[in-house]
Amino acid sequence: MFDSIKKIFSGEDDLPVNTSSKPDISREKSAELYEKAKTYFPGGVNSPVRAFKSVHGTPLFIQRGDGSHIWDADGNEFIDFCCSWGPLILGHNNVKVREKVVEVIQNGMSFGAPTALENELAELILKNNKYIEKIRFVSSGTEAVMSAIRLARGYTKRDKIIKFEGCYHGHSDSLLVKAGSGLVTFGETSSAGVPKAFADETIVVGLNDKTALQKAFDDFKNQVAAVIIEPVPANNGLLLQNKEYLEFLRDICTQNGALLIFDEVISGFRIGFEGAAGYYKIQPDIITYGKIIGGGMPVGAYGASAAIMGNVSPEGQVYQAGTLSGNPVAMGAGIAQLTELLRNGFYRDLHNKAEEFTQAIQRFASARNYKFKVFTIGSIFWFAFTDKDICSADDIDPASMEKFKKMHRELLNRGIYLGPSGYEVGFISSAHTKTDLEKAKRAIFESLDLVFRQ
Ligand SMILES: *Cc1c(COP(=O)(O)O)cnc(C)c1O
Repeated sequence: MFDSIKKIFSGEDDLPVNTSSKPDISREKSAELYEKAKTYFPGGVNSPVRAFKSVHGTPLFIQRGDGSHIWDADGNEFIDFCCSWGPLILGHNNVKVREKVVEVIQNGMSFGAPTALENELAELILKNNKYIEKIRFVSSGTEAVMSAIRLARGYTKRDKIIKFEGCYHGHSDSLLVKAGSGLVTFGETSSAGVPKAFADETIVVGLNDKTALQKAFDDFKNQVAAVIIEPVPANNGLLLQNKEYLEFLRDICTQNGALLIFDEVISGFRIGFEGAAGYYKIQPDIITYGKIIGGGMPVGAYGASAAIMGNVSPEGQVYQAGTLSGNPVAMGAGIAQLTELLRNGFYRDLHNKAEEFTQAIQRFASARNYKFKVFTIGSIFWFAFTDKDICSADDIDPASMEKFKKMHRELLNRGIYLGPSGYEVGFISSAHTKTDLEKAKRAIFESLDLVFRQ
């Protein structure tokens, strides 16, 4: 009875009317699993945002994924725009990745000794990325960033690092730090358990602010080991920076003998095979990777020039190790996935598809004068309930998240799965079909109407 708008859609000019809320999907099995999970894990999850704290209801337990679709424990089917938070650029259960994993796993899962698969993945990356000469594989994005920071400190023999409010770099101690009040501040810890002494080594400034960065370098002359940035900040909304600002970062680091670290855990292999470095044509000193690089398996990496990487043990004095680093099964998944990305036209096709999708949504919202913007780059998109430009964390109005919460619920009820927070971006994979995107658009239009008309 809630299906009053079963009107066939000929395009976004044909706008839905009289949209009404749909009944909530059944979450019985998921809710049951969640109750159990809460007895095992803090908050019932193994990573906080999964707990659905900022959206309606309890988390969905996912049973299966195939292509762009996922199914939860209650049998609800969704078109997935979370894609495991980015790694699944080919969609779920990609046949090439799966077959490679199955092939590799026949020979055992881990040796703690070198395998040819590590060479193979490294070669795939280094031959097709002119911004790094050597690489080291680790097991997560957090580990990659933590290691890159240590390398920068070891290489420059300096301790302080500069990070930006609104960028996420994983959960290592030095980086769980947020801005205090003032233009340039020592960080304040953003988690209990991070010693103040660690936070004191991290300086936090706002994005897109040259004055603050200049002041940080003036205040801490010859003390800054590195500036770390997500060149495509995509963990606190999508806070796209001007190319010119990123070039300024490059220059100010060079002038001050500090290293520039691009944290490309999310943008690497996403906005192009060479990530943001290739997109903006800016040479950072160290780049970190994660997510896509492992094809859905836990892999991270950091890379730099041979000279800088020469400082990593056992060649150099900066210690870094990992029992499961370069794990063969994970390497296999990475090899299979990255091989697909290198096919001619892969990114062109993906980006065209994403552009068409996001532009149609923006056109719809603009035609109805909704205070709503789709920020997008490549196959990343972010829905913001605003009519302003947003390029730093301060530009986001926390009150607007109430609207996202509503939208998220309406979308779930229409078979569309977005990450459960309005600060998270969405991802389009090569597995999203035209039909998927048409269906998703329609659901998004209806949800926007509901959010703005109530
Ligand atoms: C996801 C992410 C991380 C952390 O990676 P994990 O694999 O979750 O540890 C670090 N930096 C950026 C930019 C990320 O997007």
